[in-house]
Amino acid sequence: MAVQSRSPATGLPVVLGLALAFTVTVVDPLMLSLNLPQISRALQVPPHVLGVLGGAATLVVAAAVLAVGSLGDAFGLKRLLMAGLVGNVVVNVLAALSPSYGFLLAMRLLDGLVLAALVGVSLALLKVSVPEDRRPQAIGFFMATEMLLCGVMPAVGGWVAEAVGWRWLFLVAPLMSLSALGLTARYVREPDAEQRRRLDLVGVCLVGLALLALVHGMAEAQNGFSRPQAWLPLVLSAATVALFVLHERRSAHPALNLTDTCHADHVVVTLPLGVLQSGAVTFGPGLPAAKRTAIDKLGMGVLNKCYLRFPKVFWPDTDWMTYVPGVDKYGQWEQWINITRPTGHPVLLGFNAADFGRTIEGWSDTRIIDSAMGTLRTLFGRDIPAPVGHQITRWASDPYARGSYSYNKIGSTPVMRDHLAAGVDERVHFAGEATHRDSYQTVHGAYLSGIRAAKEVAG
Ligand SMILES: Cc1cc2nc3c(=O)[nH]c(=O)nc-3n(C[C@H](O)[C@H](O)[C@H](O)COP(=O)(O)OP(=O)(O)OC[C@H]3O[C@@H](n4cnc5c(N)ncnc54)[C@H](O)[C@@H]3O)c2cc1C
Repeated sequence: MAVQSRSPATGLPVVLGLALAFTVTVVDPLMLSLNLPQISRALQVPPHVLGVLGGAATLVVAAAVLAVGSLGDAFGLKRLLMAGLVGNVVVNVLAALSPSYGFLLAMRLLDGLVLAALVGVSLALLKVSVPEDRRPQAIGFFMATEMLLCGVMPAVGGWVAEAVGWRWLFLVAPLMSLSALGLTARYVREPDAEQRRRLDLVGVCLVGLALLALVHGMAEAQNGFSRPQAWLPLVLSAATVALFVLHERRSAHPALNLTDTCHADHVVVTLPLGVLQSGAVTFGPGLPAAKRTAIDKLGMGVLNKCYLRFPKVFWPDTDWMTYVPGVDKYGQWEQWINITRPTGHPVLLGFNAADFGRTIEGWSDTRIIDSAMGTLRTLFGRDIPAPVGHQITRWASDPYARGSYSYNKIGSTPVMRDHLAAGVDERVHFAGEATHRDSYQTVHGAYLSGIRAAKEVAG
């Protein structure tokens, strides 16, 4: 279920309410199963109907849980949970008044529908109602409540059936439902639907049919697989599953997302220019020619950093040091920043850009440090101490960066940045530092481009 909480509700009442709602889904069928002999005697249930009566609600839960989950996405989780709790009370009160086993069976089938609303929805609400860091304790409390009640309630049910009669059994689960209803209504917040999805009616019908046929076939198979009553439902179930998978893969709003496909009305692409150039991400249909030209012609530059930590400071108390090497070492270790001033630690930062910056990305850390130390010894003498720590970037090799920031390569023109920024079909929008005509290469350029893209999405 695609849901996002507005501001997570916390606290014991929330978890207790949801735990009670979840426990109803276990206790409710348990009450019937454990006291089936007494009920069957009273309503004169034929032996061949006994199994169906006992498992009817669970069977419907299995068939309907996916459909109900989709309803939760479409109509609101809290609303659905509360409807399920009310439904559980009403259906059980009617079950308690059952004049015949046929009526009771109908109520059990209906009860399965309302229980389906409680199973997944209570868990989904727990997830979005409790912040991630408090979730382990919340789940612990949730499970402890469920186990405790599942241990106690059968004994309560047995006592009720003995003391006041089997009809009162059907009021045990509703008592829990009413408690859960009160707590949910008062304390649980309706989460925002991240995306209000359309109900995939075909998908939920197919999965429901597949599960019903499977359970029916399995029940019939207890008397032998060779009978058509057993294998026909199983074949039907397998065929329906295949249809379901086919349908879900094609559906724009699947009930169960079987691929990692995500559907959206708009996409904002903020990939670095270097990643776009690498072809690691493909667009179908292809991008317009002007955008492809911009991606090819603009340049992605490299600026790498090498931080070296020393046991003590041996350089002057200045921010920036520039060194002009010999022609044979052109562009190597020319810029140094004194990191001691802002951090209080004896750290120097050496920059390497362009060709040399790219070349050393293929070197080992040791070789890079040796190269840096060669320059520092030229600057400060042979007796300077060796570094005790280091940190080195390799932006060009990073598959999620493929460079540091864009530049105007020879052959590119300013209008290419506009082409790079242009949206495609008013649905695919582009942002990131490279798309800003004036402030490319910078954080504020990236930020401003994001605002522009957001305005495009908003229309
Ligand atoms: C050494 C160095 C020094 C700099 N100094 C300055 C400075 O002093 N001032 C300044 O303003 N700017 C500076 N910059 C530039 C600034 O950091 C960038 O311009 C800015 O961060 C770019 O932002 P962006 O959102 O366009 O891209 P990024 O911040 O690179 O964001 C792109 C995102 O896309 C993600 N991504 C990439 N590929 C994929 C993929 N295939 N699938 C999913 N996600 C993907 C990346 O993980 C990343 O999160 C410096 C940059 C470097 C490297």
